[in-house]
Amino acid sequence: MQVPIVTPADFVTQLGEESSTQTVIQWSLERFADQKMVLSTGFGMEGCALIEMYAAHQKPLDIIYLDTGFFFKETHELIEKLKTRHPHLNFINRGTTLTPEKQADLFGDELWKRDPDLCCQLRKVDPMREALKEVDVWVTALRRDQSANRAGVELVEWNWKYQVVRICPLAEWSRQEVWDFVKSQQVPYNELHDKNYPSIGCTHCTKPVVGSAGNYYSRKGRWSGSAKTECGLHT
Ligand code: SF4
Repeated sequence: MQVPIVTPADFVTQLGEESSTQTVIQWSLERFADQKMVLSTGFGMEGCALIEMYAAHQKPLDIIYLDTGFFFKETHELIEKLKTRHPHLNFINRGTTLTPEKQADLFGDELWKRDPDLCCQLRKVDPMREALKEVDVWVTALRRDQSANRAGVELVEWNWKYQVVRICPLAEWSRQEVWDFVKSQQVPYNELHDKNYPSIGCTHCTKPVVGSAGNYYSRKGRWSGSAKTECGLHT
């Protein structure tokens, strides 16, 4: 087991109890300048906003993502837009090498219907574990009010699951605040958000939520019809 290189107590000592998102971002870039820091995203609206905030510092940063092989075409289009907008950032796909065809050979057709936890393990959790093996600091765009599971997210904490420091600069943000930021800064975002998709994952497991809009967040469209609400990356 590694020794945590920063603890929430260190963080409070260095930044004070009241820390703005911009302070946390600035602090993370300076504090971990000599360590391996990555930002991971599934390209939801929050991730796009956070990429914009880090990009504004004009420092190189690895943006890692896990292409499950089941992204919407709109997600692929968004990735290309972000690459063009932020040429100094390094977008890296750390998705699984297990092709959908090979998965079907090994586990049967439509695993996401029969055992979505295993499917997420194979296509998300295991690849993320691999991607974070050589990483010290993991930045994510999690927000506390996204779900009960995320209510305890800290701005900075040691993540025992992946043995890294996890930083969540948007922990205290609401979806309305993210939406306002995205609109005011003209941040590219997934156009599916304008088509009643508040949260976007794989094509097989994401449905629109009738009546939702860009400033509304819900996980109802994810694995709808089942009790599953998280892929397992953050639980
Ligand atoms: S979200 Fe669905 S398709 Fe994607 S990895 Fe999880 S179970 Fe599989």
